[in-house]
Amino acid sequence: MLGKTTKATTSPLVIERGGHTVSRKNISDNALKVLYRLNKGGYDAYLVGGGVRDILLGQQPKDFDIATNATPEQIKALFRNCRLIGRRFRLAHIVFGRDIIEVATFRGHHDNADNKSSVKKDSANKNAKKQHSKQSEHGMLLRDNIYGTIEEDAERRDFTINSLYYSARDFKIYDFANGLADIEKKQIRLIGDPETRYREDPVRMLRAIRFATKLDMKIHKDTASPIPTLAPLMANIPAARMFEEYLKLFLGGKAQANFHLLAENNLLQYFFPQMSQILAANSNKAAIAFIEQVLINTDKRINDGLRVTPAFLLAAVIWYSLEENINALMVGNTMAPQDAFFAAMHEIMAEQQRCVAIPKRFQLPMKDIWILQQKLHRREGAKAFKLLEHQRFRAAYDFLLIRAQVEGGELQELADWWTNFQEASPDTQQQMVKSVRGPRSNSRRRAPRKRRKPSAPE
Ligand code: ATP
Ligand code: MG
Repeated sequence: MLGKTTKATTSPLVIERGGHTVSRKNISDNALKVLYRLNKGGYDAYLVGGGVRDILLGQQPKDFDIATNATPEQIKALFRNCRLIGRRFRLAHIVFGRDIIEVATFRGHHDNADNKSSVKKDSANKNAKKQHSKQSEHGMLLRDNIYGTIEEDAERRDFTINSLYYSARDFKIYDFANGLADIEKKQIRLIGDPETRYREDPVRMLRAIRFATKLDMKIHKDTASPIPTLAPLMANIPAARMFEEYLKLFLGGKAQANFHLLAENNLLQYFFPQMSQILAANSNKAAIAFIEQVLINTDKRINDGLRVTPAFLLAAVIWYSLEENINALMVGNTMAPQDAFFAAMHEIMAEQQRCVAIPKRFQLPMKDIWILQQKLHRREGAKAFKLLEHQRFRAAYDFLLIRAQVEGGELQELADWWTNFQEASPDTQQQMVKSVRGPRSNSRRRAPRKRRKPSAPE
């Protein structure tokens, strides 16, 4: 993977063109265009992060990120197809249809950060920094728009393996943080003091886990050991960012491994509070077996190149807590089953939203999947045929199959019925529907529809 290396005067380890495996063939045309244009405009520009790391590891990068000494405004002036985004972290997006190349200006150090920077700290500089950087009482960076040199930028990145810079001008790799050595050792190691770095941005704890499973690497002990204690810092992360992280952790083909590593590190509760409690207390065996199977299936689908919706796993992770809530509401028969179902669904969705902001377009399919779990019992008359036409039938049926696998019994019979029904000829389907016992046999109907108010106590 790596060959000849030389030490440059600026102190990074420099790997010559022939000494590494990153070649322009591995880099997308759009990323190369952006690198060349920046260079031509008189700026330094490097491929950095996952783009370099993944190629060195023989993997296909998910996207290409670029770092430059041009400011966002200077980048915008160079590209017609440029959009400036972000407040906390200002970035340029160069848009090529559906492909977006992210360009970040080199980040500098913050005044109160623990750093070895040589930046002069005169008062004018300090005032400028105040406007562009902001830290919370917990040490979290709320705004991070101080620009700096490539050396500073390298120190501000999260892990050593993410701090490798490839230049399309001289085709060399610049390694400021011993990232190459860590790639060889297959270890995830934070740059700088782990606790400070996690306090600045607690999401780095999630990133450590994600990279460990994605790249099949170990988290260095100094980077791993503070995580369980610092996990409560996650409570300060906005729910919208948690949704982004949910997508990366659970829809990247390593959902099962990430789920367990998050749980081991006290981090799962910040995504799925109810499920995390069930796991910790080992209080609902079906729920645990169910989520395990859904995670396995999700990873398999992704690794087989099949489509997955973020809604399915979210619906699954909450399902048994929803059932528990419904049952709790129905204790003493004070609420009709249908009312209890909707009340519990409302309540549990609100609780989930406080951790992870699920966009409406995924909330609706989640609710559909849940509602259909009830409806799949009702097959008489035209109901079964109608259900087959439902936009979310497939997802709901898959959901039922896994529940049946876990619970067996009547649920397995129901799942088998639906499997046969879909494969049956129209005549057989008619017979199947006729032989389904009417609504009176449905267990949900056993609960009285409306209860009279109890008479006054004697
Ligand atoms: P992938 O895109 O495969 O998920 P990546 O390493 O490219 O992995 P991105 O989220 O695309 O991750 O970020 C690009 C680079 O930006 C990272 O490699 C890292 O250098 C830097 N970076 C991203 N997030 C952080 C963070 N929270 N703290 C410090 N540096 C970060
Ligand atoms: Mg990336």
